Parts: sequence; structure tokens; C-alpha cells
Amino acid sequence: MQTIAERLNSALKGIDQAATSAHRPPNSVKLLAVSKTKPVSDIMEAYEAGQRMFGENYVQEGVEKVQELSHLDDLEWHMIGPIQSNKTKIVAEHFDWVQSVDREKIARRLNEQRPDSLPPLNVCIQVNIDDEESKSGISPGELSSLIEFIESQERLTLRGLMAIPKANPSEEQQHKSLAKLKELFDHYHTSLSNFDTLSVGMSSDMTEAIQHGSTMVRVGTAIFGKRN
Ligand SMILES: *Cc1c(COP(=O)(O)O)cnc(C)c1O
Repeated sequence: MQTIAERLNSALKGIDQAATSAHRPPNSVKLLAVSKTKPVSDIMEAYEAGQRMFGENYVQEGVEKVQELSHLDDLEWHMIGPIQSNKTKIVAEHFDWVQSVDREKIARRLNEQRPDSLPPLNVCIQVNIDDEESKSGISPGELSSLIEFIESQERLTLRGLMAIPKANPSEEQQHKSLAKLKELFDHYHTSLSNFDTLSVGMSSDMTEAIQHGSTMVRVGTAIFGKRN
């Protein structure tokens, strides 16, 4: 059995290799360690091995972990799961990033509820790139108006796009969705100043995502093992 530290190092090595073979600098891709359903002791193992960015899917579980580890002031917490509007306040109070913003109402509430004592909240817009009914995310056609809205919100910093492409795609389908996402990202990346993040790629498709311009991969299983 490999330790969390060993698996974390393999993931980092995999990122380096994928970036290098795509002729991109290795440090152009960040690793978000997705710790959902895993205990704080696992997060601490990854922390001790040097990992600082963690992603959580469920608001209550995530907030508890943020609070329990609040003595570590160099952690960066990302909410990556769907948020109901009655949960925006605790998210705005506890997280550094929200990657799953997909409608104006959620963005407006996060902006209003972000405490003045904290820096503006970093947000990504979740795009439903394969138009799947089961998935959250805004359709590409509605993206520009949500971008405009978020750009007008003082307590939010729009950092980029997040997507979860279809599971088990054919090679062709995978290439098509990742290329479409990259094209959307590039379009706004050139015109908006803080828009520097394309969050795509998980344990199973990290390499392909990096080939298609991902700047942040979100990896759970490959670091922490299977979820219960
Ligand atoms: C669970 C999850 C991940 C991590 O998936 P793995 O396959 O375990 O690497 C990444 N992004 C989101 C949005 C998730 O919900």
C-alpha cells in the first residue's frame, strides 16, 4: 500500500510529465487535492508532504474541516460542489475559492455575504461543457452574461472556468469537449485581467486535460484512495 505522500508525489510527477510533453512549463498546472469524504488526518498527511490547496464538495463537511484546520494559515480551500442558496453565507465565510458558481443568484449572494475582513472571494464559473442533464453548470451560450455580472461584483474575483467533462468518453468526444472548453477559456483569458484558471481534469483524465490547456487539475482518488 502506498502512503498519501507517495501518491501525492506520483500525481505531481504525472502533472510535470503531462505538461512537459505538451510543451508547457511544469509550474503552469496546479494540483487541487480533493479531500471530500476523507478525514482531517488524511488532509494532514498531504499537508505534511507539502500540499496546500484542498477541494471539498459538500458544504457542511467542508466547513467543519476548514474550522478544524484554521490554525494552519497557509491552507487554500476550494468549494467545488453544487451550492444551494441557503448555504452561500457559510461558504462565503469559510472558503478562499468557489469553483461551482453557475447562476447569478448564487454569485450575488456570495458577493453580499463575503465578510469585509476577508479578501474578495475567488470564483470560477462551472460550465456544463457536454450539455449533460445530470450535471450542474451553465451552458456555454449563457456564459457571457454571467461573466459580465460577476465582473461587476466588488467582493468577487472572477478567476476562470471549471468543468467536469463526460465520464468514460471516446477519445474523439474527449478531445472535442476539452478543445471547446479551451477555446471558451482563451476567449476571456485574453480580455479579463484575473481570468487565469481553467480547472479541468481529475484522477482519470488529468493527462488529457493538461494536453488541452488545463491550469488546475482536481485530484481525489489518485491521492487519497477510493471513497466509501
Ligand atoms: C470528486 C471530484 C473530483 C475528484 O475526482 P477523482 O476522480 O476522485 O479524482 C474532482 N472534481 C469534482 C468536481 C469532484 O466532485
